[in-house]
Amino acid sequence: MRQLEEMPLTVSSPPESIAPQPPSGPRVRVGKLCVAVQGSTPRELIARAESALNDSTFIELRLDSLPKPAAVLADLKAFLSRRRDVAAIATCRRKAFGGQFVGSLNSELEILLKAAEAGCQIVDLEVESAEQATRPQLARFRAALRAGGTALLVSSHDFSRTRRPDGLLETARQIAAFEPEFVKVVGTARSLADNLSILRMVEELSPSAQVVGIAMGEEGLLSRILSLRAGAAFTFAAAGEGIETAPGQVSAHTLLDLYRLDQIDKATRIYGVAGNPIAHSLSPRMHTTAFRRENVNAVLLPLRPRSIDDLLTVIRELPLEGVAVTMPFKQEVLPYLANQDALTARIGACNTLRTGADGKLYGFNTDVAGVVRPLERRMRLAGARILVLGAGGAARAAVFGLVEQGAEVFVANRTHEKAVALARKAKAHVLKHAALAKNRFDAIVNTTPCGMTGVKQPLPIEADALNAALVFDTVYTPLETPLLKLAKARGLAVISGVEMFVQQGARQFEIWTGKPAPESEMQRVVELELRRRAQ
Ligand code: NAP
Repeated sequence: MRQLEEMPLTVSSPPESIAPQPPSGPRVRVGKLCVAVQGSTPRELIARAESALNDSTFIELRLDSLPKPAAVLADLKAFLSRRRDVAAIATCRRKAFGGQFVGSLNSELEILLKAAEAGCQIVDLEVESAEQATRPQLARFRAALRAGGTALLVSSHDFSRTRRPDGLLETARQIAAFEPEFVKVVGTARSLADNLSILRMVEELSPSAQVVGIAMGEEGLLSRILSLRAGAAFTFAAAGEGIETAPGQVSAHTLLDLYRLDQIDKATRIYGVAGNPIAHSLSPRMHTTAFRRENVNAVLLPLRPRSIDDLLTVIRELPLEGVAVTMPFKQEVLPYLANQDALTARIGACNTLRTGADGKLYGFNTDVAGVVRPLERRMRLAGARILVLGAGGAARAAVFGLVEQGAEVFVANRTHEKAVALARKAKAHVLKHAALAKNRFDAIVNTTPCGMTGVKQPLPIEADALNAALVFDTVYTPLETPLLKLAKARGLAVISGVEMFVQQGARQFEIWTGKPAPESEMQRVVELELRRRAQ
């Protein structure tokens, strides 16, 4: 079982700037990763809590996910007395404030006290309920918790936005007025920049308070991972995929395995892969594996920027060391580059950014290496006759890159005029589809989406026009495309799109780290992941 570093926390110490120091409060030991657990029955809740312990012994029990939260208390007590190594937060958030509990404030306070008696070391009370409670009611609640050695966490959840740092600090001040041992401020990210607001708030408060700061939603991933190094007491994860308790929550396994949560420190270099959509990008898996393999203290996180400005803000202010850029930002990023390699400028698309020591952005197009490297390992490119099918972004990288290597390149595209324009710009030739069967090539490269899972047209070229020794399909879902199957059946050599993906990534790795990339390991994990997804 993997465990994040456990640290003793002296609780009851909100910062003087936020709230007066309360009398010495309970001491609890918690880890850095709290796994949030919900269940529709007491049995399911406890079973999920048990299995969450594989990732962390610090869990949050969402009692409000149960139709009758009180029904779990006996089992909870038995579980926590059996597992004395577990630290648990009890939460019974009311429906009006983002939870599922339909009972009154009194019932919520009563259940939380009983959960504390059952062995939960922390109880979470939403700030709205704290505000609704009368002073004597809250004082009795606090006194009962303290008497039992239970810490109080007061939380605020904004399900529509993330306020600027000043606004978040104001919320933290409202929370601190209740003298909790933990202050939790949660917003909803509508942009990557919202993560910066959360991180600034955590940085500001953490020297003097036990603070948790998160932005919910897909765009808020950065805050879930990086708030720890900003000084947050802990962060939250889901117990598994499909059982998240908040929007954008990521499973504990993913946080640890894919995003290296337990290894990130102040020296960790942060990279990103930016695009929209981005959730299914293979780049985090491929690059994290490479970083790990080569002992590079770095991580690559998926970023869904709201706009190019949003991306540039987070690159500058986080800061990010480098970014793999995908659609729709490959062209949009060009005006912001301090410098770019000659091919990137001619292709008019940049898929890799590196931030220089001067803070300026340098641009590269590694899709070129993705096409050129696999081919040059199998044939001499100077003088080779190569047919490129398609005239879009991938075709541009292929055509410019291969022409630069001295190949004689022919372009054929559904929209013929686009092939003509590309060929003219890159000093290549153009062919109509009807003429393909009459020609012979050393290699054929497909850069159209034909054959991709979900695309109706399986082949970009007639079978009798496959007049080449080698066929390279840039499509990689499925792993073996109809075009590759056909080529193999005809005894031709083939290159899969996975190799292109890995080689463009290997070049990125080299640009970012200055080290040779562990290519075969990168290829292995990408293929493994694609097979897993295809099941
Ligand atoms: P793009 O800019 O949209 O260009 C797509 C090209 O394919 C266009 O020339 C288009 O022709 C043509 N096309 C589209 N549907 C077609 C069809 N049904 N029949 C014939 N031609 C068709 O896209 P892209 O960025 O170049 O990406 C294209 C493919 O390359 C992707 O699907 C992806 O699988 C692959 N790719 C792979 C990697 C990798 O790392 N392995 C990297 C990038 C891209 P029109 O001009 O007539 O529209």
